Amino acid sequence: MWFHWHRRDLREPDNRGLAAADEPVLPLFVFDPNVLKYGAPPRVSFLLDALVSLRNWYRNQGSGLIVKKGSPEDVIPSLITEYDATGVTWNHNYSGLAQRRDERVAKSLDTIDAAYDTYHDGVLHEPGTIRTNDGKPYSVFSYFWKKWTDREKRAPISAPDPADLVDQDVNNSDDTHSLPTLDDLGFDEPVAEIPSAGTEAARNRLETFCDGPIYRYDEDRDYPTRDSISRLSQDLKYGTIGIRDVYARTEAAMDDADNEAERESVEAYQRQLAWREFYTQIVYFNPNVVTENYKTYENEIQWRDDDEELQLWKDGETGYPMVDAGMRQLRAEAFMHNRTRLIVGSFLTKDLMQDWRNGYNWFRALLVDHDTASENGNWQWVGSTGADAQPYFRVFNPMTQGERYDPDAKYIKQYVPELRDVAPDKIHQWHELSDDERNEIAPDYPAPIVDHKERRERAIEMFEAARGKE
Ligand SMILES: Cc1cc2nc3c(=O)[nH]c(=O)nc-3n(C[C@H](O)[C@H](O)[C@H](O)COP(=O)(O)OP(=O)(O)OC[C@H]3O[C@@H](n4cnc5c(N)ncnc54)[C@H](O)[C@@H]3O)c2cc1C
Repeated sequence: MWFHWHRRDLREPDNRGLAAADEPVLPLFVFDPNVLKYGAPPRVSFLLDALVSLRNWYRNQGSGLIVKKGSPEDVIPSLITEYDATGVTWNHNYSGLAQRRDERVAKSLDTIDAAYDTYHDGVLHEPGTIRTNDGKPYSVFSYFWKKWTDREKRAPISAPDPADLVDQDVNNSDDTHSLPTLDDLGFDEPVAEIPSAGTEAARNRLETFCDGPIYRYDEDRDYPTRDSISRLSQDLKYGTIGIRDVYARTEAAMDDADNEAERESVEAYQRQLAWREFYTQIVYFNPNVVTENYKTYENEIQWRDDDEELQLWKDGETGYPMVDAGMRQLRAEAFMHNRTRLIVGSFLTKDLMQDWRNGYNWFRALLVDHDTASENGNWQWVGSTGADAQPYFRVFNPMTQGERYDPDAKYIKQYVPELRDVAPDKIHQWHELSDDERNEIAPDYPAPIVDHKERRERAIEMFEAARGKE
């Protein structure tokens, strides 16, 4: 028998590592304190729900999920010895932390002569397989995308049959298979309501999206109230859905499209999947970007340090309605729409002139879908320090962004109740109103904490000063 070590692949269908062994498989999950220290209540809560669902599926097949806590390099060799197993399969993770852990596990398995086989599973095209004509990893997305979209994709794989799994007679009180609670792991209950986890919930989200919204995605994806996004980010992060399954379903939607605009919309969605893989390969080849700027000359930037302004940004109390709505959505739902992630990110790094790492850390503490590569790549994009980033002189105007993407202020009013009775045009002119007028129409909502025009100029100067020192 072989073990399959589940990590960010908490699913039974479309799982390359799980399907690989030609002997019966015993599935395993290890709570690794080294990984848990980067956890947060929304994510650990989602993870536990996903594990319940996975364990139930195995039980229904007459098997079970072994659950352990400890360092994988200690736990796995000892289980292999205890069960007299041939070896273990796992699917690759691409962050530096994961790679160092996997190297330690491989070494510990070598010392007991146990076998291990590893698989590329979480992306359609693994880091290193899409390169420039000179053989280098891409740092410009449009070229990466062109090759990514032209390449043939692997087909989804079925879930294992009961005969592929080791029989286990499991009951709920069995320690080997019991899952810890959030409290056991040292986490509070999340404040936000977390999306339901597991393969069925993820599949439902995919089906709902591909049955309709995918055809409006290109036009509507930037409008937070238009309900045109897939909400699959936490599923792709934890692998409660397989990427081959997602891609195949989008191809089916492509076949069902009625016209060119709908086909382009499906392609716009596939392009976002490619952004995820672009950032995965950026972190894989440049593990230092997790803490450092991708563009090293940007290390000269003299970011502003201002704890008070940072706190107002975190609390959604900046007096810029679209920024505050986004930040409050994050707290309330452990999620934020992509358009507002861009707006609040730009506001932090340009209007407040603060280091993108302050934003990265706050998002990591709250997001259910936090993913090192995607979060880092996007923060470095808005902060103008990353690969293929937003040029530093192109600064989002938080007021016109709100007016454009939330014209009726529906999104703003949903998350900023102080503005619920204010007319949309007044909300979008909030920075131009007099203090008296602001006090009259929404006395509990703050005046803008900074002047956007002034800060925009200072931010550009800050970047130019750093470049001057190149
Ligand atoms: C500052 C900032 C931080 C971000 N942090 C994260 C993060 O921690 N985890 C994360 O998954 N995404 C992150 N994103 C990207 C994006 O905002 C989310 O993937 C998206 O909002 C999730 O909603 P969805 O699943 O409905 O996306 P959809 O629009 O339906 O897109 C489908 C999938 O494509 C991928 N995707 C979409 N946009 C991007 C993008 N810009 N970069 C990389 N992948 C993308 C995601 O896997 C997403 O689930 C961040 C963006 C910004 C601007």
